[in-house]
This record gives sequence, C-alpha cells and structure tokens, in this order.
Amino acid sequence: MTAKGYAGAAARRWAVAEVSRRKVRSCNLPLDTEGRPLTVAEMYGMNTFNQRAMKEKLPKEVYHKLQQTIRHGKKLDISIANTVAHAIKEWAIEKGATHFCHWFQPQTGLTAEKHDAFLSFDEEGTPIERFSGSQLIQSEPDASSFPSGGMRATFEARGYTAWDPSSPAFIMEATNGKTLCIPSVFIAYHGQALDQKAPLLRSMEFLNKKALELLHLFGHGTATRVVPTVGPEQEYFLIDKAFYYLRPDLLLAGRTLVGARPPKGQELEDHYFGSIKDRFLACMQEAEIELYKLGIPVKTRHNEVAPNQFELAPIFEEANVASDHNQLVMETLRAVAFRHDLALLLHEKPFAGVNGSGKHNNWSMQDSDGNNLLDPGKTPDENLQFLAVLGAVLRGVNRHAGLLRAAVAGAGNDHRLGANEAPPAIISVFLGEQLHRILDLIEAGGITRETSEQQIIDLGIAKLPEIAKDYTDRNRTSPFAFTGNKFEFRAVASSASIASPMAVLNGVVAEALGEVTDAIRARTAKGTEFKTAVMEVIREVIKETKKVRFEGNNYAPEWVAAAEHRGLPNLRKTPEALAELITPTAKKFFAASGIFSQEELEARYHVRLERYNKDIEIEIEAMKEIAKTLVLPAGFQQQGLLADAIKNLMALEKSSGTSVAFNSGPQLQQLKTISDLISKLITDLEAFESSSAKAVAEEDIQKKARAFADQIVPAMADLRATCDRMEEAIADEFWPLPKYREMLFLT
Ligand code: ADP
Ligand code: MG
Repeated sequence: MTAKGYAGAAARRWAVAEVSRRKVRSCNLPLDTEGRPLTVAEMYGMNTFNQRAMKEKLPKEVYHKLQQTIRHGKKLDISIANTVAHAIKEWAIEKGATHFCHWFQPQTGLTAEKHDAFLSFDEEGTPIERFSGSQLIQSEPDASSFPSGGMRATFEARGYTAWDPSSPAFIMEATNGKTLCIPSVFIAYHGQALDQKAPLLRSMEFLNKKALELLHLFGHGTATRVVPTVGPEQEYFLIDKAFYYLRPDLLLAGRTLVGARPPKGQELEDHYFGSIKDRFLACMQEAEIELYKLGIPVKTRHNEVAPNQFELAPIFEEANVASDHNQLVMETLRAVAFRHDLALLLHEKPFAGVNGSGKHNNWSMQDSDGNNLLDPGKTPDENLQFLAVLGAVLRGVNRHAGLLRAAVAGAGNDHRLGANEAPPAIISVFLGEQLHRILDLIEAGGITRETSEQQIIDLGIAKLPEIAKDYTDRNRTSPFAFTGNKFEFRAVASSASIASPMAVLNGVVAEALGEVTDAIRARTAKGTEFKTAVMEVIREVIKETKKVRFEGNNYAPEWVAAAEHRGLPNLRKTPEALAELITPTAKKFFAASGIFSQEELEARYHVRLERYNKDIEIEIEAMKEIAKTLVLPAGFQQQGLLADAIKNLMALEKSSGTSVAFNSGPQLQQLKTISDLISKLITDLEAFESSSAKAVAEEDIQKKARAFADQIVPAMADLRATCDRMEEAIADEFWPLPKYREMLFLT
C-alpha cells in the first residue's frame, strides 16, 4: 500500500478507494496438537511463565520459595536464581524463543527492550543456549538516552534493569521469532528510580504497611499483605491506515491539528454500545487472542460515544501487574490494528469537537485473605472499618488533590479535562447520595463516648452493604467516583501509563490510613472505647474533607465557581498542574512515603515538564507544515478556480456581443472570502512563526511551558479555526487532507 505517485487531493481520493477495497482480515487461532483450536481457557496465559508453568518446571522447594517472593513482595532468594533462570529458559525455548530481554518502562510513556540471544558457546566451541541467574536478575542496558531529568550525567550514565518477580515473564511473538520478556524496574547506579514501575512498587509497599496496621488494629490478625487492585478501562480510536498516512498531524502529534467538523458527528448517539463493525471486531478479536495468550484478563469490549471509538476493559489485577498489562494492551492493540490496516489512536483528543479518550482506573485495596477493603461489610463492625478506610481515601484525595491532578497531566489531557465530556481539572469525590447522606449524619450526629452499636445502626451504617450495591444513580461526570466497592479515577489520560497516577493514589491513601490508625490508637490509649474512638476519628475526617465531596454535575459551569469558593484547586493546564509535584507538601509526602527522594522528585518534574514542551514543539512544527504545504496551496487553487471563472464572466460581460448583464457581485464576494482567509492565514502564520520561535528558544523550561500553554496553544487553535473555515470553503477536489467524515465514517 502506497500513495506514491499521488499528491494532494488525488492522494486523498486514492485513500478513499483503498479503504473501500479493504477486506476483513481473519487470524489463525492457536491450535492444540490435534489441530483443534484452543478454547480461551486453554490459550489463557500460554505465553506467560505463570504459576502453572512454574509448578511444572521448578523443583518443589524452589517453586515455593519463588511463590513466597511473589506473594509477599519479598526479595528474590539469590540461591534459587540460577534454577529459576534455567527453568524459564527451558520453558521459553520450548515455546520457540531465541532471545530474552529485560522489559521496562522508562519515562517516555512507552516500554523499552534490548534483546540478547540465548546463544552461547561451550569450551569446545559448540553452540549452546545459556541464561544465568544473574542475567535473569539484572542487566545493564546502557540506556543513557532515556529521560532521567539530569540524574545521570553521561559519564555515569549506567542504568540497570532488575527483574520484578511479581509480574510474570512472558513471550512476545513477532512475525519471525519470539522473545522472552522479563518485566523489570529501571534504576540508576545509585538506585534512583528512572522508570514508572519502581515508584509504583514503592507506593505499594507503603500502602501495604499502612493498611496492614489498620487491619490489625481492627482485629484482622490473619492478613499478611494488602495490595492495591486496578482495572483500567482503555478507550481508543481506530481509523484506516491509508487516511492516517496522509495526516502529518496524526502521524507526528497523535491528534488532528486541523479538520472541520463533519455534518454528522456523534449527535445521533448511534455509535455508543452499537453493534461493532466486522472489520473492527476482527481486529479486537485478534488482539484479545494475543492478550489471552499473555495472560491478560480482557473482559469487555464495546463501541464508545464517538464514531470509531472503542473501549476495552480487563478484569482488575494487582496494581503493578495491571500497569504492566495495560502497557501490553496498548502495544498489542497498536500492533494488531496495523495488521488490519488500521491505525490505533490513543491520544486524549484526536478529533476536536468529537468525544475524547480517557482511561478510567477502577481502584481498590485487597488483603491476602481476599477481602476488598472498600467493600462495606455485612456487620456494623465491618462497616466501621469500611468507614475508616473510606475516610482515609477522602483525606488522601482532599489533601493531595493537586498531586492527583499532576499525576494525570500532559499536553493531550489538557484538551480533555474541562471540556464537557471528561471530568474537569477540579478533583472532587462522588460518593453517591446515600453514602453522602450517611457521612452528613455522622458529622451532625454528635457521637459520644457511649455510642452504642444500636446508635451506629440507627445512623444507617448497618445498611451500607445494600447501599453500596445500589449505585445506579452514579455520577458519570465526577473525576473520582465511588462505585459500590471501588473508586473510579476517571481523569487518567488514555495514552499514559497508569503507574504514576496509581503510585500517587496508593501513596496519598496510605499516608491517611496511617494517620487514621494513629489517631484511633491515641484515643484508645487514653481510655476511649475502641468503637467510640473510631467514630470520633471518622467524624473528624468527614468534617475536614467535606469540601472535596461533590454530588452534583461536574460539567456545570457553576461548579467551577463553587469549587473555587470551596478552595479546591482548578489546575487547568499542565504547567500549573506539574508545579504541584514540587510544593513543600508534595516533597514532604513523597519523601515520607518513600516513593521519591527529593532528587528523584525534581528529576521527575523536569522530565514531565520537558515532555510537555516537546509535545508542543512537535505540534508547532506539524502545524506550520500543514498550514504552509497543504492548506495554503489548496486555498490558492480555490482562489484560482474562482478568479478564472469570474475573469471569464467579466470578459463575456464586456465583450460587445453579449446583451445579458451577469450579476458577478456575489461571486466576487466569494473570491474575496477565500482571499481574505488566505491572507489571514499567511499573516497569522507569520506572527505564529515568530512567537513560537521565541517560545521554543526560551531556555528556562518553566517559562517555556508557560509560554506554550498561555500563548502558543491558543494561537494554534486560532490558526486551526482559519484552516477549518478554508476546508469548508475549498472545493473537495482540491482538499488534500482526509476529512473527519472520511476518517470517522469510512471503514
Ligand atoms: P463499569 O460499569 O464501570 O463497567 P464494572 O463492574 O464492569 O463497572 O468494572 C469496571 C472495572 O472495574 C473492571 O475492570 C473491573 O474488573 C474493575 N473492578 C471491579 N472490582 C474492582 C476492585 N475491587 N478493584 C479494582 N478494580 C475493580
Ligand atoms: Mg467505568
């Protein structure tokens, strides 16, 4: 497939023709030895070194030690490393793998891998396959080009990857071979985190410690570990590859920088949950097979609100594994889409005026006995613990709302948060009417030391389980909503790794859990009866966090004013959101939780801000190119068309033989309209070139980001408006860029 030989509008027509000829692609199902297609249960996890494979390949004793490591988040016992490595190698080679790699997640939002062959030679020079314990545990990829925020001066550029046994090793299949991938953390010489995973793991440790203390205080002595659980719902777009290739903006920036809205958009709401077109369905099914093989529990698929927009949701898993798996979901979707001649768009706002994409992170905590800490229990006692945990979540979110906002910040999400389709940049919590009312009651209830079980029941707390089940009225506009037994953090960016938002959420809740435990202990130490102490602490937290609870419509313009009145931060753009990372409160929090040292935090801040700047710089370049080389030439063609027609007309009018007077005035007006647009675009573009050059040249990255957010992004939107008016005025046969209606409605 190539548009070679075609340019301009001809290339666009070629793309339309190409798309009309597409066939639905079928894929090969994995087969058993008799050639029978495997069922989902049979293929599930066949490419992961999971518990089943471990049990089969490892000596019993080693298997148990490894399980301990995984289940309790312990360090790998070095004495078993060689045995484990040998078993993984045998398993991988049996599956056809020739290479291995440490698979890690630098701060680029993507994953990274450097492949090494198993190939080695023995003393006689005979080729053998070798993979040692040390190769399994650690590797030094010399990955000096990854962003480090200045933590690694190049003379000390060594970065190390280290196996994270809590995430299973897996085999990545490519057309001509297979690679064993070992999920790893990426750290600098002195142990500083350079990736997404290390801080997430640290936050999980912190949460484990604080949550266990609370559980033990409530008398649950049997729990030995608490993990955060996450189910990320992934939204995405698919458009035909032929259109994608003809859109420099999609190719470079991931979103359309110009493009007039089609006459039909999502008004009819005929796409949401509609039947999935066969070509897309075929792509999803193939992706799901790949994901099943990797042991990723993909559960639901459906059309989303916008045309060509979809969602995929897995069953929730431990945060660290869910985070790795979400990266694999995004990569697999991209790769499989490509095979189906489709391009995957993960950007938060690929099409202006059309619904954007997010990634709802369903989040809760689970103990080693299988209890969900956000599940209101069946007895008033359990309800009390639930309320204490809920209080901690409220406190964490209320205190660190800015940090949660920072965790989801990025150039793409700036287009989404605050538009009338996504939760606003204001972080608030939705609890549902009944739970909200119960908290109000507790607050007003004047709980005394003598509070009896009956009183607690009277407050409606005993009814919590039923209340929790009834969340039909749940609010779709809230950025952080309680949905029965978990919270749904809806502001997460569709293209981003979930590791960073989840690390912040784990951390802020853990901090508050610790405080709640301490406050209860302090009271009981002074002789307060346990339940009374708990109720007093809960009441205190409810009072303190009242301002972060909001049950109304988060899209309503009134909410912006009301939130400001309440003192909630409204960090609309990335530069101010990221600044939250380095406030004194944030620094203290990150250091105390062990998630980031001061040095790491500064580095992170720089990497994130620079990423924002780079994203905008790419958009600036793409915008200039599109306006100059595609939009303006089409404008001149249109102008020529009109000018020629009018010239001919006037010549006729003037010629002695014509007695008819042509009314050329309105036609001249049309010529003037397009000429004005062309002139405006040229003038604005010149101004943009100088203002953007000035902003790009700014050396202070904070000032640069500010200039981008305040001047350059709005200037690009203005340029776009002119281009879009031109698109509407220019003959279809001259317009070179695939139009919205083609990208979103032709398949
Ligand atoms: P929705 O109506 O939003 O689709 P679902 O109940 O289907 O709600 O859940 C959506 C996501 O929430 C799924 O990924 C699901 O696995 C996840 N989820 C359910 N329970 C939990 C939990 N305890 N912790 C984290 N995620 C959860
Ligand atoms: Mg949801």
